[in-house]
Amino acid sequence: MKSRTRVVVIGGGIAGCSTLYHLTQEGWTDVVLVERDELTSGTTWHSAAQVTNFGMNQTMVGLKTHSIRLYKELAEDPDYPINYHHGDGGIRLANTQAQMQGYHHFTSMARGMDVHFEVIDAQECARRHPLISTENLIGGLWDPLDGDIDPAQLCQALARRARKAGAEVYRHTPVTNLTQHSDDTWTVHTERGDIDCDIVVNACGYRVNEVGAMMGVHHPVASMEHQYFLTEEIPAIRDAGHRMPLLRCPISDYYCRQEKNGLLLGFYEQDCKTWGMDGIDPNFVNALCPDDLDRVTDVLEGAFARMPALLDVGVHTVVNGPITYTIDGAPLVGPIPGKRNAFCIIGLRAGLGEGGGHGWLLAQQIVHGEACYDTWCLDPRRFAGHANTELTALKAIEDYQNEFRFHFPHEHRPAGRPAKTTPLTPVLAAEGAEFTVVNGWERVEYIKPTPDFSPTLSFDFDGTFDVIAAEVANVQTGVGLAEVNGFNRIEITGADRHAFLDRMFCGTVARRDGRVGLGYLLNHHGMVKAEATVANLPASDRGPARIWYGSAAASELHDMDWLTQHLQADEDVQLRSLTNNQTILILAGPRARDVLSDCARGDWSAAAFPWLSLRECFVGIAPATVMGVSFSGELAYEIHVPNASLYAAYLALRQAGAAHGLKLFGARAVESMRMEKSFLHWKADLITEFDPFETGLDRFVTLDKGDFIGRDALRKRLTDGPRKKLVVLQVQSAQRPAHPGASLMRGGQVVGTITSGDWGHRTGLNLAHGFVVPDLAHIAAEMELDSCGQCLRATVIPPSPYDPEFARMKA
Ligand SMILES: Cc1cc2nc3c(=O)[nH]c(=O)nc-3n(C[C@H](O)[C@H](O)[C@H](O)COP(=O)(O)OP(=O)(O)OC[C@H]3O[C@@H](n4cnc5c(N)ncnc54)[C@H](O)[C@@H]3O)c2cc1C
Repeated sequence: MKSRTRVVVIGGGIAGCSTLYHLTQEGWTDVVLVERDELTSGTTWHSAAQVTNFGMNQTMVGLKTHSIRLYKELAEDPDYPINYHHGDGGIRLANTQAQMQGYHHFTSMARGMDVHFEVIDAQECARRHPLISTENLIGGLWDPLDGDIDPAQLCQALARRARKAGAEVYRHTPVTNLTQHSDDTWTVHTERGDIDCDIVVNACGYRVNEVGAMMGVHHPVASMEHQYFLTEEIPAIRDAGHRMPLLRCPISDYYCRQEKNGLLLGFYEQDCKTWGMDGIDPNFVNALCPDDLDRVTDVLEGAFARMPALLDVGVHTVVNGPITYTIDGAPLVGPIPGKRNAFCIIGLRAGLGEGGGHGWLLAQQIVHGEACYDTWCLDPRRFAGHANTELTALKAIEDYQNEFRFHFPHEHRPAGRPAKTTPLTPVLAAEGAEFTVVNGWERVEYIKPTPDFSPTLSFDFDGTFDVIAAEVANVQTGVGLAEVNGFNRIEITGADRHAFLDRMFCGTVARRDGRVGLGYLLNHHGMVKAEATVANLPASDRGPARIWYGSAAASELHDMDWLTQHLQADEDVQLRSLTNNQTILILAGPRARDVLSDCARGDWSAAAFPWLSLRECFVGIAPATVMGVSFSGELAYEIHVPNASLYAAYLALRQAGAAHGLKLFGARAVESMRMEKSFLHWKADLITEFDPFETGLDRFVTLDKGDFIGRDALRKRLTDGPRKKLVVLQVQSAQRPAHPGASLMRGGQVVGTITSGDWGHRTGLNLAHGFVVPDLAHIAAEMELDSCGQCLRATVIPPSPYDPEFARMKA
């Protein structure tokens, strides 16, 4: 066994084997994998191993496409072929029009990744899968590349190729501890000796938190028991002359694929069970949980009704094994929060289908710092500290119960809520607030017109349309108040704070006390990494001169990690998170100044407190820091208040606001208004796949200001020219917004992808942002939006269709 290597991958299931193989593909061959038992002896060996191309966003579709291509190549290896039923095809069933509409959207989204799904009717489903009845069936989504693979052969093939490239695999080598040294390197302690390395990767499946504990972290991953059974031979399958397509059923929560001349049926029962919550027997190796088919009778009935042939056939094997779920159902693939040189590839609930792609994207992140796709949907830093064991278990159960039921736009499921609240949450709930969830925070979405208001989930504009319109109208003509909780805030102190941020931001950083600025951070490839406001607080009785770095709530761990990693040892800079201590109240609208003047001392005129100013003051008796910034495009103030004083500040604002007609508004109204101002959203419009010029952020880049992260790469990118450009689009439809991921078409070709969309209530326009090919990135360029199966005209319009002079917010 080596005593020193570059990377140690811990765990020899599909996650570990794929990572090891892809590291060698990226050119790192001094790498090893350690496995406590035999390869695949965790969950992988007994997997149903279906390999679908279906995904909920383009990153997921792209990584699954990679798996499929790779598995096909491995299967066709002339020396070591493996069993892969590639391209049997698969159907996701639907019995509601809303599901069908969703399938149309996912088809449009996948087309942008050169993946071609088909939405078919019930008769066509039955023609392609002769065993199913069309009772209570409208149709389905056809994935032509669906199939299944032999999981053990797959892992052996990946390990074999990795070994051939120089990697080493140590079986029967349990990792017993991990030590990180002051230079951020690691020692991996195993039962067979120590291995020093630069980087460790946790790929330990359901034992993820045993290894997590060795490095002092808890991962939001829980295991569920999951069962399938295999039937005896079914004559209709034996005689069909072709393999049966795969089935996935969101109506009765089962999947089904052909196994020999019978079927394999797997179930997602409502009466489901977590596993291993109180620790896992160390001898649970190549093992299964006891059969418990009684638990799945509810879903069994649905499967039997759909495939009556099942009634005449016996069950010959039952498999019940642990399967991992994360707090939002998607895996955790990337850097481990708060750690250096540590990565994970965990929480895989469809690891056979996805594992090839996940290992590919992880290896790119390890070797190059970033992957070819934006991997935020997989990033382990997308949850903050609230993602504890109990909450994870509740969300795992909910996800398991809804396995094949995709989330509709604006859908926020109820399990584990509320997780994070402020003193205002119950107050706003009593005012009729409907809440959405942002990084665990309960954030007001809108104020319900009646207590029982409950619009039907849909891809179309729904019953909230008029409610949002009224909130926007109030902000436009009067004054509105909204709470923005969980906004990420890092206090930066020290004499070198500006020099530090100068290195981090690609543009000029606001430095003057009492001033606020907006800026962008790039990664080392010159791509957009983060967006933040920089607020310069003067020295006062509240603290020394300092900066508040403010960014999206979801970015809490991501931005802290990025900033911390780039601190230099000799720099006088300190970072401290204030995210959980402070909340923002937004006061917006032409009468906002009147309200503020009535409850906070001082001169709030435009001359005394112009746009982008900052002032420490009191709102009523609550200490507050007021910033003159606006995301709505109206005159607006962000009032930052410590949580202990939040209710006091709220009462003062409501009291002062009463004379000015102040009303509450929520995040949906903000979303509509920011679209009308063409303000961009992090991880919707701002992604690591594009540089700031492609994203239209030219005015935030100062290439000649001195060195900053990403500068050299950006200069080089400039000479290559843009691959796509972000544009503002007007969509000709009053029925439905443009949904993120939908394809923009011209002459039958995909020419772009939507990143955000919403109705602009002040302009009466259906607005969208999207990245399009450079030829179409000009005003008045025409294209079609493939919107849930309908072709809608989309035209490029100038940015900021509402108040293009920005006069209202500077008034
Ligand atoms: C019944 C069932 C059906 C499924 N069907 C499908 C399907 O159809 N399609 C699909 O895509 N997915 C399916 N899955 C899910 C899929 O099998 C998993 O996502 C995948 O196998 C997880 O792989 P992994 O490598 O993350 O974990 P594992 O396979 O569990 O591998 C983790 C490895 O880490 C090792 N390890 C743990 N601790 C240590 C340590 N301290 N030191 C060294 N090594 C350690 C373990 O021994 C193990 O080999 C199914 C799962 C189940 C239970």
